[in-house]
Amino acid sequence: MKVAKFGGTSLANAAQIKKVCSIVRADRERRLIVVSAPGKRYKDDTKVTDLLIAYAERHLLDGAAEAEKQAVFARFREIAAELDLPGEAREQIEAELEEVLSNRKKLSAERFMDAVKAAGEDTCAKVVAHYLRSLGENAHYINPGEAGLLVTDEAGNAHVLPEAYEKLSALRENPGISVFPGFFGFTEAGDLVTFSRGGSDITGSILAAAVKADVYENFTDVDSVYAVNPNLIDHPAEIKEITYREMRELSYSGFSVFHEEALIPAYQANIPVCIKNTNNPSAPGTMIVSEPRYSTKRVSGIACDSGFCSLYVSKYLMNREIGFGRKLLQMLEEEGLSYEHSPSGIDNISVILRERDLTPEKEQRIVERIRRELRVDDVAVTHGLALVMIVGEGMRQSVGTTARAASALAAAKINLEMINQGSSEVSIMFGVKAVEAERAVIALYQEFFGNEEEAASEQALVSPVSSVTA
Ligand code: ASP
Repeated sequence: MKVAKFGGTSLANAAQIKKVCSIVRADRERRLIVVSAPGKRYKDDTKVTDLLIAYAERHLLDGAAEAEKQAVFARFREIAAELDLPGEAREQIEAELEEVLSNRKKLSAERFMDAVKAAGEDTCAKVVAHYLRSLGENAHYINPGEAGLLVTDEAGNAHVLPEAYEKLSALRENPGISVFPGFFGFTEAGDLVTFSRGGSDITGSILAAAVKADVYENFTDVDSVYAVNPNLIDHPAEIKEITYREMRELSYSGFSVFHEEALIPAYQANIPVCIKNTNNPSAPGTMIVSEPRYSTKRVSGIACDSGFCSLYVSKYLMNREIGFGRKLLQMLEEEGLSYEHSPSGIDNISVILRERDLTPEKEQRIVERIRRELRVDDVAVTHGLALVMIVGEGMRQSVGTTARAASALAAAKINLEMINQGSSEVSIMFGVKAVEAERAVIALYQEFFGNEEEAASEQALVSPVSSVTA
């Protein structure tokens, strides 16, 4: 059995939904389908989820928002008409959507926002199920509450509860094609809560783990995951296979093909994930697996994310002071800050934080406390940092990767603010000034992927090491 999730661009209009349904019908193993809300039809279009958020915000503000509401209805009406859904189905879908959008009465602002946000996926799943039925398929819309997708009560940031898996495993026995809306679940008390943005990927992964799918197919609008952001390099190398670990590191530092949190359920249940293209379904896509089935590459991908800052602290004989690190990190904890990394020396330590979390007030309070309570020699915050990562399982076995990366950056005259190699040796991270980040990525890509001979020899490494085939 396969779980297939389709993202927003795959469902943006009737033509795309037809493609989705023909993909589903082409393989009888695709019995559990997860859908996002209709996304952008063209570059400057607005996703249905964003239309819904605009509606909910306005409605919460002054109880009106008729124009915003009609924008949502217009998208679904157009889709239903072009799919030629039966009149009865259209009326039912519209009535149910209307009920959610006008049901402000008993709900808190947070609950209302989540219910409205989720209506994009929910309505889309009903549309797809009706359309499949109109094609003669035995297809059913599944309500996540009835199916048992239980989540924590964190508005806009829910997490699955462990008991959900057992309940959801029953979906395996459903006859025909089950169409499940992504992006939300229900609390034990029965309230609707959404995952974080892009969270339909998470739903798909949870379902794939629950029904023990052979594969979790994640259909999007690119042929594969690329080794680098295609906006920076023309026709970058395609990644045929990547491990969960590599994907996790790349998503952390800016790869947005697959939601960061969505890997966890699939990883824990050891379900391979395949990223595929709705607009080119015969392309093999990118497989995300637990252990590489092929020889590992030195560098699989290069990613970059900005918006970091570094808190630098130095104190003579810091290494002998028991509890120094704990006290420092505790101050951050008390300010509600999550720390990203902390490269350290003998008498100094840097803590890398997300800039959006460190408000000027928090920064001032922390710096004062560090000076006063830890009696340090120096404390400073550097803003405007980007983290550039090179990621590859093969790094462990190959010598000189850091040297090559550092030389490439030096040749491009990029000053390194920090180097951090995690103990897993799957990645090396370089802190650079945000303004230099793109140049850094290009220099690193050219170093590891730019040389044709090397690219060819890396390609040779992609031949199977075992008898497993793609
Ligand atoms: N529609 C939701 C969003 O735009 C969830 C998703 O597409 O995965 O964030």
